Formats: sequence, structure tokens, C-alpha cells
Amino acid sequence: MKISQSTFILWGTFFSVILGLLIGGFFLETSLKIQWVGQLFLNALKMTIIPLIFSAVVSGICNLNKNSDFGMTGFITVTYYTITTSIAVLIGLLCVNLLEPGKSLKLNINESNQYTGNDVISFSDIPLSMVTDNLFKSATNGELLPIIIFAVLFAVALLKIGRKGERLTVFFGDLNTVMMQIVSWIMLLTPIGVFALVSSRVAEAGGLEGFSGEIKAVGRYVVCVIFGLAIHFFFLFLVLNRITNYGLSYIKSLLRALLTAFGTASSSATLPTSLACTYEAGVNPSTSKFVLPLGATINMDGTALYEAVAVMFIAQAYGIELSIAQQLIVFITATLAAIGAAGIPQAGLVTMVLVLTAVNLPLEGVGILLAVDWFLDRFRTTINVWGDGVGAAVVEQITKRQSEIKGSN
Ligand code: ASP
Repeated sequence: MKISQSTFILWGTFFSVILGLLIGGFFLETSLKIQWVGQLFLNALKMTIIPLIFSAVVSGICNLNKNSDFGMTGFITVTYYTITTSIAVLIGLLCVNLLEPGKSLKLNINESNQYTGNDVISFSDIPLSMVTDNLFKSATNGELLPIIIFAVLFAVALLKIGRKGERLTVFFGDLNTVMMQIVSWIMLLTPIGVFALVSSRVAEAGGLEGFSGEIKAVGRYVVCVIFGLAIHFFFLFLVLNRITNYGLSYIKSLLRALLTAFGTASSSATLPTSLACTYEAGVNPSTSKFVLPLGATINMDGTALYEAVAVMFIAQAYGIELSIAQQLIVFITATLAAIGAAGIPQAGLVTMVLVLTAVNLPLEGVGILLAVDWFLDRFRTTINVWGDGVGAAVVEQITKRQSEIKGSN
């Protein structure tokens, strides 16, 4: 029996996650020694991102079906992302109110121990992060959102100038094909890269012994976040099933991207793999090329859910009751904070400060979550990537239907 390359990578990555957890748990020194291998894999993925997303967004928008114009696709995408992110926060709020993971902790507010992170951000930082004063600086810093916004403008301008822009459209289409070829080579390294990333991170957290102690302290919180994320995973699967014909096989097609998300804890670094997986699943590449890069930067269902649970958990741990009105503020700010979070490891922890500040909770509360955050980050990033993948399929289907209706009129 001949095993295809993608099946080989899929199973290889699946076992590398399990093996990584085990080896990292028991052989700390060896695992720490191979940390550089994981970093090498991450670097290789990241190296492709700027030329890949720029060419993908430009060629995706320029090749969108004539009937389903960019405006409609953009509107459907943003609507889908907003609705699903809000539902994720709702699921998080429901779980945390039902399971009350922080009730047993009874922490005291220690005035002298305020959160001292330099990363305190405000709401105006979200719109400000969308437009850059220097495209190259943003590229160097890995700030993808302003690059995507510029790519969208660039593509719309290309469409506007008509025939004069044809050569550039072909150029970016070809550049994208070349980048995807490079990505397919890097993806061959996924099992080794993910294994090194997972095992070295588990070892860094003190192996099985050290980390199980950390988890026990906030065990109910960890269970609550993972339980909420699992519910959201199935909710998105129901949406996928209801709106598209992809069904169960879509999970299998996306599994490589989901495992890469778990290994790297970064939606941005997973983007090349997500694009390749959705193409293989049969989603129209033009739709994926627009929906996925945007999703990797603004659609973070897992992060939104986690932020809501974490903030409520901190309130419960300090014995502070949040009224329905305050929980409404948590709902709105957690949605915005997730949109503002970058697709990089533990970005959600930073934007959570927005939510805590909005309901006057002590910022030092973040301290109790720190030890387990790298672990939960992997689960929420997996759901972030799943949300984007389902988004590509759903947006493709809805735009197709809209075009048919438009075509028949
Ligand atoms: N690591 C997450 C991502 O890249 C963001 C976060 O929640 O920290 O999607």
C-alpha cells in the first residue's frame, strides 16, 4: 500500500505530539538540547510568511469569481468572524459561571504586588495596529495585520486600474505558487519540528513532575478552558456541517494544520500549513487566500473564549462578584481583545489586560495563570486555526450561493 506524503506527515505529526509530551515529561535534559530544532522549524515557517501572505491576499482578491465581488466576500468573512468569536465568548462565560473554577482559591488583593508588565495596552491600540507608518518595519516585527490591510488596498487598486494591472496580477499569482512550493518542502519537517517544540517546552516547564504541580494548583481553570474550547470545536463543526458539504473529512484535511497550531502556539506560523490544507480539502484557493490570512490575525475564537474564562476566574479567585452588566463588558472587551491579539505565542495574555481593566479587576491576577498559560495557549491556538479553516469553507459556500442568486436574477 502506498502512503501519500500528506498522510505520512499527518500521522508523523500526530505521533510526534504524543511522543513530545512523553519525552519532554521524562527526559528533561535531552529535550532541552533539541530546542533549537523546533526553533529552526519555526523560523523556516515564519520566513515564508510575508511574501506568502502578501502574494496570497493580492492574487486571492484579484481572482475572486466575477460574480462574488470582493466587497461581498469581505463582508461575509467579517460577519462570520464576529459572530463566531462572540459565540466563543458566550460559551466561555457559560462554562466559567457553571463550573466556577476560581471559587475555591480565595486570594487576597495585595496592593503592593501590582502587575508590572510593560505590555499594558489600550483600546486605541487596536485600530492603530491596523495601519502602519512603515510597511517594512511591520514586516520585520511580524505585524501581519497592517500588511494584510495594505495588500487588500493594493489588490483593490489593481482591480480598479483594469488591464494595466494584469502583469502585476500574474506576477503575484506566480509568486504565490512559488511560495506554496517552498511551504510544501518545509511541511515535510513538521513531525520533527513539532516533536522538538513540544518536548522542549514540556521539559522547560519542569517535565511531568514539575508541570503537574503547576496544573494542580489551577486544575479546575485548566479543565474549564479546555472544556469550553472543546464545545466550541463541536459548535463550529455543526456550523460547517449545516452550511457546507465537507463533513468529517474536513477535520482530517485540517488535522495537519491543527497539530502544527498545537506545536507552534502561533496562528501566524501555522498559516502556510492552513492554506495548504484547505487547498487539499478542495476549498476555492481565492477564498482561502483572503479568509485565512485575515483570520490568522483577527479571528481568534479560542483566545476570546480563554480571555472570558480567565477574567471571570480571576474575579472568582478574589471573591469579586461580577454583575450581568459587568459580564456584558467582559463579553464585549474579550471579543475586542481577541481581535487585537497577534497570532503569536501567548499574545492573548497581553491583551487580557484590556478586559481586566474594563471591569476593574486587579492586574496582578494574571500572575496565577502564568505557569499554565503556555499549555492552554496550544489548545486555544488550535481552536483559532480551526475557526479560520471552518471560516474559509463557510465563506466559500455562502459567496457561491450569493453569486448563484445574483446570476439567476
Ligand atoms: N497564540 C495564539 C495564536 O497565535 C494567540 C493567543 O491566544 O495567545 O493564535
